[in-house]
Amino acid sequence: MKALSIKEPWISLIASGDKTIETRTWKPEYRGRILLVGSKKPSGPLAGLAACRANLIDCRPMTKADEVNALCKCYPGAISWILEDIELVPEPFGVRGQLRLYDVNVNCHHIGLAHDWYEPVPDYYFCSKCSAIR
Ligand SMILES: [Zn+2]
Repeated sequence: MKALSIKEPWISLIASGDKTIETRTWKPEYRGRILLVGSKKPSGPLAGLAACRANLIDCRPMTKADEVNALCKCYPGAISWILEDIELVPEPFGVRGQLRLYDVNVNCHHIGLAHDWYEPVPDYYFCSKCSAIR
């Protein structure tokens, strides 16, 4: 699953639903489900932890109108990352953060999702979302 590290206090403001636009000076090609992780520093309630998941639906140049949902002033080169369907991770768990977008192996249950089982051969069930085996 694609993941993005975000510093406190912003990660907590996203987790609480107050902030639905994250800003960066770069944009990824990726759209879709994303895991939001608190950066290790500075310290804070979600530092170093996978805090929530969201649907990254768009990345586009920031506008003045975005300020209210980004909780920051528009700045030169700012790209708004539009987050929808923000859901808390049931029990935040430690993730070693990296720069930019990175991949984290997560079990559906750990991020509050149901497995999506399929049976490629009789009596063997695999989850199409996280590769768990039953
Ligand atoms: Zn799964």
